Amino acid sequence: MLDYWNPAMRLYVDRLVDWETILTLRRGEAVDVEAEKGAFSTVLETLAALTAGFERPAREHWSEEAQLTPDGGAEPPAHMRDAYAKLREAGLVCMPVPEKYGGAALPLLLNGMALEMIARADASLMTVIGLQTGAAEDIEKYASEETKRAILPRFVSGEVQGCMDLTEPQAGSDLGRISARVTDLPDGTVRVDGQKIFITNGGAEVHLVLARDADTYDASKGTTQGLSLVLVERHRPDGSPNGVRVARLERKLGIHGSPTCEVVFEGAIGVRLGEKGKGFRAMLDLMNNARLGVAAQGLGIAEAAFHDATVYARQRQQFGQPIEKQPLVMTMLAKMAVNIEAARALCYHTYELADLVRSREVALSGSRLSNAERSAQQEALERDVVRLRLLTPLTKYFATEISHDITRDAMQILGGVGYTMDSDVPKLHADSLITTVYEGTSEIQASFALKEMGKGALAVVFEMARRELDAMKQDAMREPLADRVLSMIERVEEATKVLFSDIQYALLRAKLLAEMVIDVLASTELLRQVGADPRRLEVAESYVMRRSLEGDTMARRIEQNATGRLARDARVLELVTERSA
Ligand SMILES: Cc1cc2nc3c(=O)[nH]c(=O)nc-3n(C[C@H](O)[C@H](O)[C@H](O)COP(=O)(O)OP(=O)(O)OC[C@H]3O[C@@H](n4cnc5c(N)ncnc54)[C@H](O)[C@@H]3O)c2cc1C
Repeated sequence: MLDYWNPAMRLYVDRLVDWETILTLRRGEAVDVEAEKGAFSTVLETLAALTAGFERPAREHWSEEAQLTPDGGAEPPAHMRDAYAKLREAGLVCMPVPEKYGGAALPLLLNGMALEMIARADASLMTVIGLQTGAAEDIEKYASEETKRAILPRFVSGEVQGCMDLTEPQAGSDLGRISARVTDLPDGTVRVDGQKIFITNGGAEVHLVLARDADTYDASKGTTQGLSLVLVERHRPDGSPNGVRVARLERKLGIHGSPTCEVVFEGAIGVRLGEKGKGFRAMLDLMNNARLGVAAQGLGIAEAAFHDATVYARQRQQFGQPIEKQPLVMTMLAKMAVNIEAARALCYHTYELADLVRSREVALSGSRLSNAERSAQQEALERDVVRLRLLTPLTKYFATEISHDITRDAMQILGGVGYTMDSDVPKLHADSLITTVYEGTSEIQASFALKEMGKGALAVVFEMARRELDAMKQDAMREPLADRVLSMIERVEEATKVLFSDIQYALLRAKLLAEMVIDVLASTELLRQVGADPRRLEVAESYVMRRSLEGDTMARRIEQNATGRLARDARVLELVTERSA
């Protein structure tokens, strides 16, 4: 049970996170940081015990699909509804909402750890809880006070759930192609008409819908301008239906319990969140939260597969010994472990940064700060927002890609058994596959990261990393590794000079660049962990040594193929397609 509340989580909660700054900015000097930390541990221990109990039913009922309900909604299978009820009873379905709306105002990092635990037990259940907190945060940021007071306490109590409705048949990665329509009504509300597809938990009561303003419909078509984010409830205040209907459910490769819905809006009445025509920005906030949530989901699934693989490798005897003793198996397991730790390090680092950003915003919106403090906080906030915009897509990319690899390696370690549905690892692999697709595919995360780097975020992030690494060099144990990571930074900087001279080539290499930057950031964070727990040196060493070699190869690939690569790809495809035609 304690396994779910794992050592890395404890390290962050007890020692690594700068709670003093995060909590004081948010709640003032009087906050009792040690007491808060104790409370955080209690929440996570409770969650660990609860979620571990969800694991068996989730695996046994894995293939059970969500169902349509007679009232035009959709619901997950019984084991998921039971698990949700238990989380609800424990008051743990929507943890970060502020106290004034009935929430516990728990840090985003804690929420991320909770989502990781939930996903480890049941990746489908995580989709529902992830949206619950994600939608609540967007409402908190963009809704009117009246809407917040009406909706948020119901989110916290678990009475209502949320979903986000962006995708349409012709608008996937490219949300500029959205055609659902928002029309203003004389009383200040709006009506929404259109069709959305692939909507997770689309039977939820509260929908956050991205749709195009009727006034500027034709002029803004094909762009992300002129979009509004609208909150639509499935029922009107008198309980009658509000023109929101789940038309069908998708049948999928994994996360069967998670309802993936086609949702039709026909004259649905709602209210705008944020400014008219600025919905894309508001939606990006929701998506960024959700991206970190999916990173946590990827981690949780990877952890579950790694756990199953280690248990199996320990007991499976071949050639007179457990297979874990075979060097090829042992090294595969060790690489899985190190990759999980590296992705977790980056994920928790990004969540900590998200908490810092939120605390700075809260402090700046109040009246506690002096003028000097205010300008210092404003400057730090601007810097941290830049960092967060780069780190979020990188974290999503990394944690979900390793989830794919680790669940696949777990299947390999289980041999033939791993290909049968008597084992759980193929289920975990199937579940992991969606994580590199939804909330923006890996390619989209790499392109987003590239865009942020092009706007100067890389320099900001590297400046912070350099400062941390230079400080680590005072510690003899970490000095050689810190030096290596500093060289990795230089290598990335050299490669980017070639890259940014040609945008098409930069897009072609966006994944390589993302991976090189991820390696620097994850390595730096693993080394930071060593400062708090020297036993983790070998995890950091293993990652830094392996990835610094890879980094050099990636940099050379970027540099050597600077010209002509795209044209060659086009020629190869033309030739091969001609041949097979
Ligand atoms: C189970 C499930 C749940 C989902 N839940 C939700 C939800 O709750 N709400 C919601 O709104 N949507 C949801 N989605 C939709 C999901 O976010 C999209 O499927 C995803 O963003 C990709 O869009 P697409 O499927 O249209 O693929 P496309 O955009 O058509 O992309 C196809 C391929 O082209 C690549 N590609 C596209 N553009 C680029 C580019 N510029 N550069 C490089 N490569 C590119 C992609 O990476 C991908 O490999 C869900 C989808 C699934 C399957």
